[in-house]
Amino acid sequence: MLGTHLKTYLQSDDQFIVIAGPCSVESEAQMTELLNAPGFSKVVRGGLFKMRTNPDSFQGMREKGVELIEKLRQERDFDFITEISDPRQIELLDPVTSIYQVGTRNMYNYELLKELSTLGKPVMIKRGFSANIKEWLGAAEYLSPLPEDKIMLCERGIRAFEPLLRNHLDLGTVIWLKENTNFKVIVDPSHAMGDAKYVRRASLASIAAGADGILVETHPEPAKALSDAHQALNLDELASLQAELKSLGEVLGKQIV
Ligand code: PEP
Ligand code: MN
Repeated sequence: MLGTHLKTYLQSDDQFIVIAGPCSVESEAQMTELLNAPGFSKVVRGGLFKMRTNPDSFQGMREKGVELIEKLRQERDFDFITEISDPRQIELLDPVTSIYQVGTRNMYNYELLKELSTLGKPVMIKRGFSANIKEWLGAAEYLSPLPEDKIMLCERGIRAFEPLLRNHLDLGTVIWLKENTNFKVIVDPSHAMGDAKYVRRASLASIAAGADGILVETHPEPAKALSDAHQALNLDELASLQAELKSLGEVLGKQIV
């Protein structure tokens, strides 16, 4: 079931969504601190099955994390987006998931996309590290049994030649997609920039470029995060970003949700 907040967003053209939450769901204390924060997002991100570059890195809470989200969703009203990397995870994830996130490493996993297209829930496809627009839209076509308003594209930075930035935030492509497709276009400024101190400007630039929202990593104590600690906002930073987006949204005719 999708919350009314999310349903309204998917059908509107003038709302900009701030999807916030940790890179990885780590504990009940971490998640309740986020969910209890005033004004925290009603659509919450959180990795359960993590796709880490190195197998020795934290792989996510997995089944235990699903149980935790199930409990938290019974107590509170929020939608949850999480990454799915294998169709065998559907049974476990489906009861807690409102939006399926397909990560950059799986954009080309067409069997996964075909399977997700049958579930009827929104799917957000992150752009492959080096995918061009045609390849990305090809991946979206695999979801086409889903209506257009349930297909979301997420620009998360592509691989470029610049070593000082984690990735290259391609806002030109965001502008192109908004002119030439009807999909929701979300920007992930956290993975694109790789450093919390750049997330604010990247987010403001994204709303100005016409994006329909951001997916932003947020942690109650970023320094202690088990994954992507360097790029997570803390709760104060998230609140001031939301306020700035609101002011800019007024000029651009976008309501921040
Ligand atoms: C994530 O959102 O936590 C993630 C792993 O992102 P990406 O697939 O863009 O690397
Ligand atoms: Mn991350």
